[in-house]
Amino acid sequence: MNTTRSLYVEPEPLQSEAEPPMLELRDVFRIYRSGATETVALRGLDLEVARGSFVAILGPSGCGKSTLLALAAGLDVPSAGEVRLRGRSLTRLDDDALARLRASEIAIVLQNDNLWPSLSARENVTVSLGLAGVPYPQQAALRALDAFGLLDRAGHRPSSLSGGEQQRVAIAAAAGREAALVVADEPTGELDRENEQIVLDALRRLCEECGSTIVTVTHSEQVAAAADRVIEMRDGRVIS
Ligand code: ADP
Repeated sequence: MNTTRSLYVEPEPLQSEAEPPMLELRDVFRIYRSGATETVALRGLDLEVARGSFVAILGPSGCGKSTLLALAAGLDVPSAGEVRLRGRSLTRLDDDALARLRASEIAIVLQNDNLWPSLSARENVTVSLGLAGVPYPQQAALRALDAFGLLDRAGHRPSSLSGGEQQRVAIAAAAGREAALVVADEPTGELDRENEQIVLDALRRLCEECGSTIVTVTHSEQVAAAADRVIEMRDGRVIS
């Protein structure tokens, strides 16, 4: 009988803790109060957004889309309920902590005016990366602009860039920062179909190559078709 004990011990299977979703909203209410008037913009909204996904939010005007984006971006806090980013509650963070979180993890892309008008494309991206703490922001900005085919536009100010180029500069800045969450409000709202597609392709690359999660409000069928998931809102809630 072999009494030698084997030095090899079968490893215990790793307890694989499920990774929390990138973004979670649980029973979220947002009530705006002005004097005696109350507007309930979000009423018990639940939403879970998987990491690395591209989500489009649709719904009629006034149903709470911008309010939802502001909460997701850490620009606002709910009146009740929980907002979590990678499992971390934003509801309990103070203003300074929220500002730090936005700088390090979140990029915001609006319909227009995403860039400082007096700075070139390169300077815009450099400042954005510098504020996010990216090392060697000047070199990183050039790499990001190059990756999005904008190197030849690097020295131009926003006023001499097309609308589509301006949006791509903003997306390049998000890519250079490796923003975990990109919150976009009608990012192609002012573009023609061709430029809309170019900006959509850039957003998809951001998702696929940088692993960013994208949550965008849109009225565009083209954007909805490009998304992994379409969420419909009505009256302060997600309906599908
Ligand atoms: P959407 O983006 O879908 O158009 P919003 O989130 O902008 O919807 O608005 C949802 C509701 O909240 C609307 O009735 C709107 O008038 C109201 N609302 C939005 N922002 C404010 C605010 N700062 N003060 C008061 N009411 C607001």
